[in-house]
Order: sequence, then structure tokens, then C-alpha cells
Amino acid sequence: MCGIVGYIGKQKNIKIGLDALKRLEYRGYDSAGMAVYNQEKKRVDLVRSVGRVANLEAKLEGMGLEGSPFLFYTRWATHGAATEENCHPHRDCKDSMFVVHNGIIENYLELKERLVANGHEFRSETDTEVIPHLLEEFFTGNLEEAVRKVVPLLRGAFALAVISRDDPQKLVAVRFSAPLLIGVAEGEYLVASDPSAVVTHTDKVIYLEDREIAVLTPLGFAIEDFSRRAIEKAMSTIDWNVQDAQKGGYEHFMLKEIMEHPESITNALRGRLNTEEGLALLGGLDAHKETMRGMERVQVLACGSAYLVGRAGEYMLEECAGMPVEVDTASEFRYRKQAFDSKTLSVFISQSGETADTIAALKEVKEKGGFALGVVNVVGSTVARGVDAGVYAHSGPEIAVAATKSITGQLAVMALLSLFLGRQRQMSLDAGKQIARELASLPDLAKKILETGEHIRGIAEKYKTCRNFFVIGRKYSLPVAFEGALKLKEVAYVHAEAFGGGELKHGSLALIDEGFPTIAVVPSDSVYEKMISNIQEIRARKGPVIAIATEGNDAIGQFADDVMYIPKTLEMLSPVLSVIPLQLFAYYAGVLRGCDVDKPKNIAKSVTVE
Ligand code: GLU
Repeated sequence: MCGIVGYIGKQKNIKIGLDALKRLEYRGYDSAGMAVYNQEKKRVDLVRSVGRVANLEAKLEGMGLEGSPFLFYTRWATHGAATEENCHPHRDCKDSMFVVHNGIIENYLELKERLVANGHEFRSETDTEVIPHLLEEFFTGNLEEAVRKVVPLLRGAFALAVISRDDPQKLVAVRFSAPLLIGVAEGEYLVASDPSAVVTHTDKVIYLEDREIAVLTPLGFAIEDFSRRAIEKAMSTIDWNVQDAQKGGYEHFMLKEIMEHPESITNALRGRLNTEEGLALLGGLDAHKETMRGMERVQVLACGSAYLVGRAGEYMLEECAGMPVEVDTASEFRYRKQAFDSKTLSVFISQSGETADTIAALKEVKEKGGFALGVVNVVGSTVARGVDAGVYAHSGPEIAVAATKSITGQLAVMALLSLFLGRQRQMSLDAGKQIARELASLPDLAKKILETGEHIRGIAEKYKTCRNFFVIGRKYSLPVAFEGALKLKEVAYVHAEAFGGGELKHGSLALIDEGFPTIAVVPSDSVYEKMISNIQEIRARKGPVIAIATEGNDAIGQFADDVMYIPKTLEMLSPVLSVIPLQLFAYYAGVLRGCDVDKPKNIAKSVTVE
């Protein structure tokens, strides 16, 4: 997730910006940049570099840059690779307007087309660069007036900080669906993506809300909404230390990232749903619509949690598109006699896009002339570059080693892909509309689950001494069971094994007794009755049962010792919700057992070895 820092005030020391930017490094990024207004030379100096903030710092060393206002930025690429040219700040043709942006401008292509036709020259591949060029078109001497005219033209999500050589005693900040705040000190004002950037400078902050524009000068600031109504805002005092602030006030990155599920799902869906026509709008597949229509089967290749997303995708694709689907771990695939042809769509799922096994499988498919589609989080990564087409998950960076929010982002993308392929084939308009509508409601439903965290913590407390768990589910809930077991192993260091509910009786039931609990993922769906039978088999052997059930199902209390509820949704979308309580349970179990949940022993975030 990008980091924004802006400063205007009595000091000219750009180190303030650099230090603030370093405190945003935890958010994850791929390049860093800055721009500072030089009063003597009446120009804005721009410096950017790929990689760590330390690289930017080394570049700035000895340049002697100083001034006010200035902008600092860490970029987490969404449009265009992680190169110096694509890093922010971006500028207009005249080197007057300088903009840093967090988010995505969904309609940038049409805006860019118009701007290019008007003679603007673009220097990057980003969506962001349309903004300085639009400002150039509208600027008549007053920066905030130009910003006010540009903002209504932008669709998507954006937090912006803008400075201009031609109206230099101002810093304009805008918030719309991406975070931004103002830090207030004596004769100095900062803008930043989150409080950790400003905590060493001031503890007084004003959180901007969506549709607010702030104009900051060395003498003060004013905030208006998009319809020019002046807004009086209360000042908040931050009482976090820096460490806390980087985790957004949460104890661990893992918890912070679990709490970000609603945003992760929202970002995966943003601009991609047409609820009127029941369609998924996947820009990355536009050029390949005919190829997609000709596909007869799907093979999904992935590892770890992404593999389990693939297993859920298998059910979705079969149901929605009626296509046969095979899912394999990428590490096994390359050593098999592979049987795919030009009518096989190969889907590669990877959070980092750098998983060595997945990359090797991708090479295998490309070598044999197959068509590869990527479901990747990190833009410009090896998998993203190697595939023929792709749909980014846009979950933002995950710092904790165990995958959490990236899973719901990937699941949402698999649902979109199923809708896309389904509507090209057998799926009716009505069914498409229903899926699109339900998808759109998922972020709010995810929020409701997160509100039950304390209840889930209580259940984890009760079972914290157990060293073995079974996790069972059927159909859509089977991959969820696998993911729940994986998470318990990863972060709580307890042995957990997942099965299809029907499989227990074929052997593993032998282990069940009063000290061996089973987590049953049992939403009210088409296999509910079957699952209840499987739960009864466990109960008959005195095994404790923790159920994940649908809200309103009070009867489950007869069959389970403890219940975690999820809201009702379509059966095919239930995995997006049911993974959340399992992650919370594993998180709390890990914390209560004294494990290092953010950095579990023996495992790495991005597995770049075979
Ligand atoms: N969409 C912008 C880009 O790709 C901003 C990404 C971000 O928020 O870091 O440059």
C-alpha cells in the first residue's frame, strides 16, 4: 500500500519528510520518490528511485535539496511496473504540477486518450499521471481551484497530495476512498497516509473523510467537501507509540490484515461489477474475450493458501461456467505427464507472483504453448509479467507471513472470473445479477464477522491447550477447512488436518475422543444435512465440535459445543466469509500459545525456492 507524506511550514528540512516516509515503509512498497519546491530557483526538484527508501536517501545525499512545501512517497504499483518513471510524484508537461496518489483511477484510459489528443505528453504508464495533466488544463493561477475542477472527473479511489511551482505556498490534499490525515504542529502542517508518519513530529491529527479537500498553507488550513461546504473538524490526539502506529493500533500485523478483509474484497471488486447486467468487467481479459470463449477446460496451478483458493475456484467455475476444472499444486504439476491443450485455460494464483514453484509451472505451460491467466497481488511480479492475461487481486501488501486478506481478495477474483466465463456460456442474466449483487455486499458482511472477534478469542482460549484438531467441510467449505488447518499449523504450531466431512469415517475417526476437537465448517447450504450427520459421528465418540454456521441457525447449538457465526450469502461465495473466523481463531490460538504469529518459525512470506 503506498505511503504519502506532504509538508508545508516554517522549516525547509526535507529530512522531516524522509523520516516520516521511513515510518510508512511497513506498508510495503516497491519504489520511492520526492518533490520539493525550491524558492530561490522557483522550481520543483524531483527525485525518485526504485527499491528501498534507503536508495532514495542515498540519492538525495549531497544534493543539498531543501524547501517547502515538499512531498514524499512510497509506491506500491498497481498500474505499470515498479520503475523510476512510474514512481510518484508525477508531473504535468510544464513541470509545474506535482502529484502523489494512493489508489486507482478507474477511468484513466479514457482521460488519457483525451489528454493525449490535446497534446499532453505522458512520461509513465501509471493511472496517476492523468491527474497532473488535468490540473495543467484547469490551472489558472489557483491550485485548489484546479483541484476542485479535476476531482469530479476522476472515478475510483484516491488520496492525493498536490503542490505547484506556480502557486507555491500551498499543499492541497484530497481524500476519496483512500486514507489521508493532517498532522498539525506549530507553524507546520503535514499530510500523511497514516498516523505513524507524523507521530514523532506531532500528536495532533485531523482525519480527513471521503470527499474532503484540505488546503494547507504555512499559516493554517481549511477543509471543504466536494460541494464546497466548509467543514469544521475535531482534532484528535494520538496516544500510540511509533511501533503501534505502524500496526494501525493492532497488536500484530496479522490481526491488522485480518481486519482489512473488507478493504481487500472491496479492492478486488472495485470497478469490476456490473450489477445491472450481471457481468464481471475484467479489463485484463478484454483483449482475450474470444480466446476465453473458446476455452473448454480450466487447470488451476498454485501453492499453499493460493492452492486452496484454487480449490474453491474449482467449485465456482464448474457451477457457473460448466467447465471441467482441475486444480494442482504447482510443485507437483511440473513432474507429471501434463495433459492440456490449446483449449485449456491455465490459471496461476500467487499473492507475491514470485513463488518459485508457480513460476516453474508457468514456464512449463508457456513452453507447451498454453494460454496462461494470472491472479496475482503484486503488480509487475514475475508471474504477472509471464502470463498472457491477468486479474490483479489489489489486496495491498501483506506483512505478516501467513496469508490472510490476500485470500479473500483472490477468492473474490475467482468469483469474478467464474461470473465472467459463466456469462459467456450457460449462466442466465438473472443468475449473473444475483451473483454480482451478492459479491457487492460481501465487504459489509465481512465487517460483521470481524465484530465477533472477542467471542472467537474466548473459544480459542477454551481450546488453547489442544495439540490436535480436525477441520471438516464439504463442497465449497472443504477448501475452507484446508485453509483453516493450514493457518492453525502456521501460526499456532498445532497439528491440524482437514477432510471432507464424508471422509472422516474412512479412517481418521479412530483418533476422536474428548480431547480431540473438530472444527466443522457448516454453513446453511446444499450439504448442510450431510455435514450434520458427520458431526453426529464425531459427537457419538465424544469429540468436541466447534461449528462455523450461518447466522440465524440456532439449532446448531444442539450439535456443537461452540459456534462462530457468518452472515448468510450465496453458497458459492460462502468461502469468502467462512475463512475469516478460522483465521481469527488461528490468530488468537497462536497469540494465546505464545507464538510469533507475524513471523512463524521455519516459513517465509514469498517462497522463492523450489
Ligand atoms: N495506481 C497508482 C500507481 O500504480 C498508485 C498505486 C499506490 O497506491 O501505491 O502508481
